[in-house]
Amino acid sequence: MRSNKSSRTGLYLLLAALLIGVGLLLTAFALRPSLAIGVDRLARLRAWFANPAANSEWTVLGGKRCTPDAPMLMPTDGYIGFGRGDSFRPGHRHSGYDIFTPDGAVNTTPVIAAYDGYLTREGDWRSSVIIRHPDFQPVVGGEQIWTYYTHMASADGAQSFIASQFPPGTHDLFVPAGTLLGYQGNWSGTAGNPTGIHLHFSVVKSTPSGGYENETDIDNTYDPAPFLGVTRNAAGVLICEGGSDQ
Ligand SMILES: [Zn+2]
Repeated sequence: MRSNKSSRTGLYLLLAALLIGVGLLLTAFALRPSLAIGVDRLARLRAWFANPAANSEWTVLGGKRCTPDAPMLMPTDGYIGFGRGDSFRPGHRHSGYDIFTPDGAVNTTPVIAAYDGYLTREGDWRSSVIIRHPDFQPVVGGEQIWTYYTHMASADGAQSFIASQFPPGTHDLFVPAGTLLGYQGNWSGTAGNPTGIHLHFSVVKSTPSGGYENETDIDNTYDPAPFLGVTRNAAGVLICEGGSDQ
């Protein structure tokens, strides 16, 4: 009786160990592609920061329309180092584009409005603005959408690089496409934890009542690619091919 019980316990332990093992294997397998992408992206980002001019085919230019039928203008200069869906850590999926400056300095690379709309900067926003685009016909067929621009502040958060005509508390102010919104910075939201100088840009869905959804959740955003006319080259880099200025 006793040995029967202990052998059954042993069997349960073995089964539990097997299940945990299988679980770990499945988790490792599920994470493998995103981790591989991450390493790839990080290597390219290091190459970009080391010498932007040597990687000019990766460079996107603010104010450019990447394809003739792209509705939005590229919002800044740089390299689109991280795209929508990229994973920085297990379980995380990035909601927009991170466009890294070619300048190597904060407060020098302009950020512009990608499309006509109505700008809001909430009272406690140091580095972000969001623009409402009602009745947006291209790509989404008449929905209201928003474009979000962030990281426009110094690494310690003390200095905002947002243009002075958009102070905290600005609400629904009309701005035409191409309006200067501010300059790229590296404020991450946490003092002393800089992100690398870039613009985070995302296309955000509206709430049923007409507000903006939380853009940190990828499901609340659209892929910026069809809005900007961005494509991937053979190596998987997000690029802005051809097109015209404005
Ligand atoms: Zn980002």
